Amino acid sequence: MKISEEGIFIDLDIFASSFFMLTRWEEILDEKRDLHGRCKAANSIAEQWGFLHRPVVDEYADLLLKCLIHLGYNGPRKKNEFTFLHTHDVDEIEKWKGTGTLAKTIGADVLKRKSLQLAKKNLKQQKAVKKGTQKDPYDTFDELMDISETKGITSHFFFLHQGSSQYDNGYSWDDPVVRKTIQHIKNRGHQIGLHPSYNTLEKKSLFQKEKNKLEQLTAQPVTTGRQHYLRFNTPETWQLWEDHGMDWDSSLYYSEKAGFRCGTCRAYPVFNVSTGKALQLKELPLTIMDSTFFNQIEEGHSEIVLKEIIELLNRVKQHQGQFVLLWHTNYLNLNIFARHKQVYLELLRNL
Ligand SMILES: [Zn+2]
Repeated sequence: MKISEEGIFIDLDIFASSFFMLTRWEEILDEKRDLHGRCKAANSIAEQWGFLHRPVVDEYADLLLKCLIHLGYNGPRKKNEFTFLHTHDVDEIEKWKGTGTLAKTIGADVLKRKSLQLAKKNLKQQKAVKKGTQKDPYDTFDELMDISETKGITSHFFFLHQGSSQYDNGYSWDDPVVRKTIQHIKNRGHQIGLHPSYNTLEKKSLFQKEKNKLEQLTAQPVTTGRQHYLRFNTPETWQLWEDHGMDWDSSLYYSEKAGFRCGTCRAYPVFNVSTGKALQLKELPLTIMDSTFFNQIEEGHSEIVLKEIIELLNRVKQHQGQFVLLWHTNYLNLNIFARHKQVYLELLRNL
């Protein structure tokens, strides 16, 4: 960058670079997907050039504003404020429902995790849930809503339809527990959104079916959510959401690595590069997904995980952006996730 009497010369095309990041242009050409057809962080320019952990588009915007002010600009500017969006994908609804679950869980505790202590804890929990003296560990709705309320915000719960693939966990929306839970969330004034099932990416008619059914169930329009497994093809999936009257999506994030996939920590209106049209739909890029860090936490590296998460959080705060957290409802209170919960609670303390 050169500053002289004549003006400021920036050796970078701020607008083209921002357009490239926000439209996810590179993903249209990315054929090296993972097992689930998702783009991988390792193949992204942001990761390869070492800036995935920086919201570069927001940095460009700040730079541009500073240059304009230096040149005498004194007009209006948009005021942003840091916000926290607390979101929860509801992938499963009851842990101890089926008859085979106990044997399967305890078998995995002993044989895979080699922990008799964990097996005992799970046996005790299952008995308490069956007796009605303890809540099912997947029933974390009140706890999550309580947390949101202490922060003066609402929780967003995205419900997954039964689905038809082995990656959909198969709870039915006709189950009275689901109906009761949805009603309870509504009564407490929190939000309900759609978590379109695994195959909605290929079979677009499924999206409409699932949206209609959730609207019937909630008796209200459903206009927000996130794709299950974060399966997303840009710009087609954005267009799918737009065509079905959705207001915002929050799927864009690399599941194996946290960072700013879209180069921004702010909600933004989407542009379809295939049709050349601006959409009404907004993207709220996801900042942190719980499961990205599960292996690291399990291996005893909670401190490192927290440091990385808090660094990202501080960057969002620095840019007065939106910190979007995904904590699955079924991950909060499982016995195997005790250490993970400590990380979650520590993160909340830093907000
Ligand atoms: Zn999911």
